[in-house]
Amino acid sequence: MSEKIKMKNAIVEMDGDEMTRIMWDMIKRELITPYIDLNTEYYDLGLKHRDETDDAVTYAAAEATARLGVGVKCATITPNADRVAEYNLKKKWPSPNATIRAALGGTVFRAPIIAPSIRRYIPTWTKPIVIARHAYGDIYLNREMYVDENSKCELVKTDAAGNETRMTIHDFKDGGGVVQGIHNTDASISGFAVACFEYALSQGLDLWFATKDTISKTYDHRFKDIFAEIYKEKYEEKFREREISYYYMLIDDAAARVIRSEGGFIWACKNYDGDVMSDLLGACYGCFSMMTSVLVSPRSAYEYEAAHGTVQRHYYKYLKGETTSTNSVATLYAWTGALRRRGILDGTPDLVGWADRMEAAAMKTIADGVMTGDLYAASDAENKRIATTEEFIREIKLRYEY
Ligand code: NAP
Ligand code: MG
Repeated sequence: MSEKIKMKNAIVEMDGDEMTRIMWDMIKRELITPYIDLNTEYYDLGLKHRDETDDAVTYAAAEATARLGVGVKCATITPNADRVAEYNLKKKWPSPNATIRAALGGTVFRAPIIAPSIRRYIPTWTKPIVIARHAYGDIYLNREMYVDENSKCELVKTDAAGNETRMTIHDFKDGGGVVQGIHNTDASISGFAVACFEYALSQGLDLWFATKDTISKTYDHRFKDIFAEIYKEKYEEKFREREISYYYMLIDDAAARVIRSEGGFIWACKNYDGDVMSDLLGACYGCFSMMTSVLVSPRSAYEYEAAHGTVQRHYYKYLKGETTSTNSVATLYAWTGALRRRGILDGTPDLVGWADRMEAAAMKTIADGVMTGDLYAASDAENKRIATTEEFIREIKLRYEY
């Protein structure tokens, strides 16, 4: 066998839970370490170890990702009451993803992996649509109340000098109703805009952004203006050089254009739009388990993961010794994404080459009809057959080596 690929700098490796932890190990053993002299800073974010370290390991992993600039993360359990009992936890630790996102800031970009023969509900979407969701504010940090009949609701702003500005929201004369207050900040919107422009440049993809600024003339319009200012000041020239475009439109217009498109762009969404559209797009691309996710921090640290969870139901089957057929593609793509990024930053084309070849081998495996159960159910291929979790990974290895 030829010499293993060397890595100049390390990436952060965040191990996780349940079935994805099992696949993590298989992927490393079969598809990575035979070919790459793997250089990682390892953090065990498995629930047991998070509990033992009082979750300090999660903060350490986030710090390391900011420092090294590239991380790859396995799916992890976000504990609920059942998990606290199951793992005898000291407390209900927060979601590691939320902790890492809070520490790094930034924006999550989700993209489907388009595989041969997998049914797409929108057949013309031949390229991925990458969704960027602004994960701050709006209704997710709202204050809301029920208002009784004959009450009046107002917006009140008190400035630094104590002056009040008032605006009536509604006078509830004919029965009660509901009101809510929402907010966003210039800093958060600007950070979101920068992340979107930077990611578009790094991927060479057009960027679309949409709000309802014709109706929301101050709130949504602020988003439109901030994007426009930042684009004009810092990105217009770079976009021209990269031969990509930035398009702003109304959200309803965007929805219609997205349906008629062939994909191949980034769709930046306000918080609620992104919540809805990411699930809609995930379903349309045919296979929920084939979604990848990358967190891009404002200081340009990239953290890669699969969008799915730890696949608990399959793990319990695995523990009982039953055969499983769990899809490892999105977890593999988290690794190829992270190592490709490392390779680009370090100027080590062999690492990029490994990532390209490994992804091609995974797609060839599916094209040859070798699939996990979820892909089998979503595939139109005639020659298809179901492989176990282990077999599927070994079939990818065969095609990589071929
Ligand atoms: P899940 O792990 O995403 O799995 C839900 C169902 O989707 C599975 O039971 C399976 O359906 C199917 N599925 C998902 N990924 C698959 C794959 N790779 N291959 C084949 N089928 C796949 O969600 P969950 O079971 O609701 O959550 C389990 C744990 O994951 C929870 O503790 C949650 O906190 C955690 N979670 C973590 C993350 C993260 O770390 N990013 C994200 C979401 C959830 P069938 O059972 O029908 O085969
Ligand atoms: Mg959602």
